[in-house]
Amino acid sequence: MHLSIRNISKTYPNGVRALTNVSLDIPPGMFGLLGPNGAGKSTLMRMLATLQDPDEGSIHLGELDVLSQKDEVRKTLGYLPQEFGVYPKVSAEELLQHFALLKGIPERGARREVVEALLRQTNLWEVRKQKLGGYSGGMRQRFGVAVALLGNPKLLIVDEPTAGLDPAERVRFLNLLSELGENSVVLLSTHIVEDVSELCTRMAIIDRGKILLEAEPLRAMTDLRGRIWRRVMSKAELPALEREHAVISTKLLAGRTVARVHSDAAPGPGFEAVEPDLEDVYFAAMAGRIGRRHEQPEPVATR
Ligand code: ADP
Repeated sequence: MHLSIRNISKTYPNGVRALTNVSLDIPPGMFGLLGPNGAGKSTLMRMLATLQDPDEGSIHLGELDVLSQKDEVRKTLGYLPQEFGVYPKVSAEELLQHFALLKGIPERGARREVVEALLRQTNLWEVRKQKLGGYSGGMRQRFGVAVALLGNPKLLIVDEPTAGLDPAERVRFLNLLSELGENSVVLLSTHIVEDVSELCTRMAIIDRGKILLEAEPLRAMTDLRGRIWRRVMSKAELPALEREHAVISTKLLAGRTVARVHSDAAPGPGFEAVEPDLEDVYFAAMAGRIGRRHEQPEPVATR
C-alpha cells in the first residue's frame, strides 16, 4: 500500500492559503511530516483522513481514490486527531468495546479478543477498568491509538501526538508507534524534530503550506556532512555573524550563544566542523539553504 499525494492546494474561506501544490510519495513504514505550527500539517492530515477536500489535486491510497471513494478509504483508515474527546466516566475497556461495535465487529467473542489484544498492545491492559477521565495525557494518547487501530488500518494518521506528553510518556508512545509501521503506512505529523529522527525512515519538511524537502533522515544528515559549522560566542557578536554567514540556528549554552552556520567551506577562525543532526537539516531547509521545492506542475491523475 502506497500513498500518493499530487498537487494538493487549499485556501480557506477566510483567504488563508494553507497548502500550495503539495506532492508526496509515501511508502509503507513510518513517515514523518515535520513543520512548525501553522505550516499546514493538520489541513493535510484531515484531507488524508477524508474529512476535508482540497481545492485542487488528487490523493490515492493504493488503488483507492481518497477524494471520491471516501467510504472505502474509511474502512482501511485509522486517524488519531490532534485533539479528541473521550467520555470521562467510561472505562477504556468499555469505550473500546463500543467503538469496536461501531467499527463493525458485531460478534461479542471476536470483539472481546480484538479489544484485549489492542489494550495489551498499547500497554493499557492493567488500567483497562479505570475511567478515562483519570487517565494521564500519555495514557489517553495510547488509548487514541488503540481506537485508531481498530479494524487493522492500512493507513494510520497521527497528528501531533507527542505534544504535551512528559519525556517518559513520549518515549513509551514512540515505541508503540515504531512497532506499527511494518506493513501499513504510518504518517506522523509533528513539530518536534526528535520524533522524526527517532522513528521515521522517510520524512518531509513543510512550511507555509509548501514542501521544502522530502528525504530519508539519515541520508539528509549525511548530505550535510562538512557543511555545518559551530561557533560559541557572546550574544553581542551574533548580529555581525548573521550579516556575514548563513546562521541556521542559535542556542544558549551556559550563558553563551552557540551558532550553527551552513557553509560549503570553512567560514573562518573560531568555527569548528560538527556532525550534522536532523535539527540542522530542518533549519537549513527552513532557511532555504537545502531542499527542493515542488513547483513544477505534475500531471494530475484523472478521476
Ligand atoms: P499545522 O497543523 O501545521 O499547525 P494547520 O493545517 O492547522 O497547520 O493550519 C495551516 C494554516 O491554515 C494556518 O495559518 C491556520 O491558521 C489556517 N487554518 C487552519 N484551519 C483553518 C480553518 N478551518 N479556517 C481558516 N483557517 C484555517
